[in-house]
Amino acid sequence: MVEHTPGRPLAAGRGSRNEATRRHNLSTLLSLVHHRQGVSRADLTRATGLNRSTIGVLVADLVAGGLVRETAPATGAVGRPSPIVVPDPDVVTIAINPDVDAIVVGIVGMGGVVHARERVPMANLPTVEQMVDVVRVHSADMLDGTPWRAVGAGVAIPGLVRVRAGEVARAPHLLWRDEPIAEPLRRALGVPVAVDNDANAGLVAESLFGAGRGRSNLVYLNGSVSGIGGSVLNDGAVLRGSDGFAGELGHTLARSDGEQCHCGRTGCLETEVNLQRLERAAGAAGIDHADVEGSLSRSESAVLGAELDHQVDTLARAMASFVSVFNPEVIVLGGFLSALHALRGDRLAAALEDLAFAPLADNLDVVRAELGDELLMVGAAEIAFGDLLADPLGTG
Ligand SMILES: [Zn+2]
Repeated sequence: MVEHTPGRPLAAGRGSRNEATRRHNLSTLLSLVHHRQGVSRADLTRATGLNRSTIGVLVADLVAGGLVRETAPATGAVGRPSPIVVPDPDVVTIAINPDVDAIVVGIVGMGGVVHARERVPMANLPTVEQMVDVVRVHSADMLDGTPWRAVGAGVAIPGLVRVRAGEVARAPHLLWRDEPIAEPLRRALGVPVAVDNDANAGLVAESLFGAGRGRSNLVYLNGSVSGIGGSVLNDGAVLRGSDGFAGELGHTLARSDGEQCHCGRTGCLETEVNLQRLERAAGAAGIDHADVEGSLSRSESAVLGAELDHQVDTLARAMASFVSVFNPEVIVLGGFLSALHALRGDRLAAALEDLAFAPLADNLDVVRAELGDELLMVGAAEIAFGDLLADPLGTG
């Protein structure tokens, strides 16, 4: 069971061993309360192996720190009632997702609760400066007059991100290259800022609060008008690779004689399994981006039907390779890939069964993403909560 407990290794030479242990335990407890959206004291005791009085002291510390609250137990419970520890609803992060035609800004609490979300349309491709301005103005408006306390901000970027440096290496659709992101936002917002790739953010959100809940080994594929984002959860940790760019599954090679991809190569998965190609096949009827599945299911075009079959077969071939490489418990499909799954689920399953290396695919689930419009807000928030969860009371 994945909990993404970010408890750091107990570093020598940083405070006493007791302080390090306390920090680790606080981190474990707050992560459990956050990811399970509330836990009874009894379940905290069971999940951590700590004794009841230690849990009582740690929970009291988190209450005093304004991070959790205790509520009365549900009546009618069997045995001795145990108070429920829930995230403090006033602790929030500012969630940010820049895209080609809009900046999406949200206020997200612990437990994956989206309090507010605003899509700010942009007339042109936004620059980093414009994004910072939009986020500063709109997040201030959203927080004004509320009890919410922003503890950080998280940015989900459609592109390659140097996570530690808080920089975009390359975001081809935004035309951003080697752009610092965390530092200008930190100056504008006055809170710590964390940055990651949007597919990594989506993966973490789905694995904690969506279709991959409770799974530790997960392949996530999200199809949008910008291409296919991919990310891999391996034993509960996002697969990073040597530069932090691992999981670019949309740019695995699907066919050598395919179309040219914006990455400069030919025949990437995302040029073969592609929303614009479906649109071309749909002809004049087009595809409503807000309801891809509905548009596709209403069409009776034989050309579109053949293109759907072709894309499902190509997707199945790629997924068979991912099964061999990553041995996932579950593959989560989001965006228009979720529509392909809905419309051609049997064909996809049959092709995958045919192509995948059997022992690795025997217990594989292929499921649709669940978080919809809130996905990247929850994912960006999760990036932002990282520091708080690692050291809840700032004792590190
Ligand atoms: Zn490519």
